[in-house]
Amino acid sequence: MAHYTLTREIPKTSAYDIVIAGGGPAGTAAAIVAGRLGAKVLLIEATGCLGGMGTSGLVTAFDPMANGEQNLVGGIMLEIVETMYERGQLPPHVTPEFWRRKYHCWTQFRAEGLKQLLDDMTQDAGVEVLLFTTLVDVDADEQSVNGAIINNIEGFHYVPSKTFIDCTGDAVLAHLAGVPCRTNPHFMPGTLCSLHAGVDWDRAAKHSQQALLEQAIGAGHFTQPDRHLPGLTRAGGQLGYLNGGHLFGKNALNARERTEGMILGRKLVREYVDFYRKYMPGCENMELVCTAALMGVRETRRIVGEYELCFADYQARRQFPDQIGVFNKFVDIHVRDCSDEEYARFQHEMSDIGRLKQGECFGIPYGILVPKGWQNLWVAGRCNSSDVMVHGSIRVMPAAAMMGQAAGTAAVQAIQTGQTACALDTERLVFSLRDQGAYLPQGTLCREMTRRDVSQDRGVNNEV
Ligand SMILES: Cc1cc2nc3c(=O)[nH]c(=O)nc-3n(C[C@H](O)[C@H](O)[C@H](O)COP(=O)(O)OP(=O)(O)OC[C@H]3O[C@@H](n4cnc5c(N)ncnc54)[C@H](O)[C@@H]3O)c2cc1C
Repeated sequence: MAHYTLTREIPKTSAYDIVIAGGGPAGTAAAIVAGRLGAKVLLIEATGCLGGMGTSGLVTAFDPMANGEQNLVGGIMLEIVETMYERGQLPPHVTPEFWRRKYHCWTQFRAEGLKQLLDDMTQDAGVEVLLFTTLVDVDADEQSVNGAIINNIEGFHYVPSKTFIDCTGDAVLAHLAGVPCRTNPHFMPGTLCSLHAGVDWDRAAKHSQQALLEQAIGAGHFTQPDRHLPGLTRAGGQLGYLNGGHLFGKNALNARERTEGMILGRKLVREYVDFYRKYMPGCENMELVCTAALMGVRETRRIVGEYELCFADYQARRQFPDQIGVFNKFVDIHVRDCSDEEYARFQHEMSDIGRLKQGECFGIPYGILVPKGWQNLWVAGRCNSSDVMVHGSIRVMPAAAMMGQAAGTAAVQAIQTGQTACALDTERLVFSLRDQGAYLPQGTLCREMTRRDVSQDRGVNNEV
């Protein structure tokens, strides 16, 4: 591709303590906690609301937050769910047992309720939020970020800050700063989620969607015979949230393919609506309310961090002295194509591979949030430093929020103490997170983070 050199002067804003790019579960948790701790925080979000996949992506269910015996995900995420419950923003069938105790139980919620709550929580915490604002470039040198270049209706601005947190899901800030990232050539496909009205759940809930899907595929109903259907889930009285229709081969790091993915997603949703109306009792009057404004992306970049959380750690239920969260979710890696072999692999993975039992959990160490050697940059949420398998577990919203909360707290600690991201006192961080309601059961603490980078051992791309 030919290159064009652009040189221009752009206005510089006042300086911040923390600039956070991306207002999904990770970014909002980071911003809220840092604001509450007294930092001057700017949260920039490309869309018109906070919540990321949970709102603009219409992924309206939080993954399991408990392990069958107790709640594992505390802090901001727990506060969000409890407040949504108090505000009547969870569907009628959802009870506190869902997130406080149950094993492998999803907590459905109303996306509008989450949007409003996150507005309230960021405002109460004194966070400056800029919606419809995109991070477009980064000024960085010697493993330190000086400023973010943002773009919105006012044009370009240079935003100086003491610290930065990348919560874009795609490691946009880290990548632009020059942080090495991994990508998986066999990345999981995304899905364009959608909301539907007119579902009679008393009847619909009695039927196996999988059995009906197999029947419809056998009858040639779908242009894309995809046997992996996460499915239609109750999201309200007569409301359904559909996670169906994989966007195979559409790489979300490619603007054209992302666009093609949205168009394909909207086409597939029509086929799923016809399928449910025709095959599933209770869905005869189902109506499409809307498809999501954001493509549901499962996998793009993962940074090379001070630690890479590996499947062996997960299988060992490893606990770390510097863990900032614990989790129990199974490895959820979707089919990569429509073949029978691929579906068989997926079924095997879902039924077996290292699934944690009731009462168990594995630790998420601090080092997966810190790009290797970087001073004032953290990366939280989906683009954390983990291998493909563990990423299949911790890419989800409750884990992303725990990572965001830890990154926001760490950034404040760094500002207050002069410590860098890669040399942070992790004992102090764990104490702070416990004070904020995080469940961190490790008996042994350590002032230095656990380190390991095994990126060189892996057969995946290193994209710089
Ligand atoms: C189809 C699908 C179904 C899923 N189902 C579930 C589920 O049932 N339960 C669950 O808990 N999780 C689920 N997940 C996973 C989960 O939704 C995401 O992995 C999670 O939201 C990641 O959080 P995040 O904060 O890292 O990123 P995101 O939620 O993706 O948020 C990133 C935010 O950053 C913004 N952004 C990106 N680039 C820029 C930029 N350059 N400048 C400014 N802003 C930017 C985006 O607009 C977005 O708002 C699902 C994911 C998909 C795709």
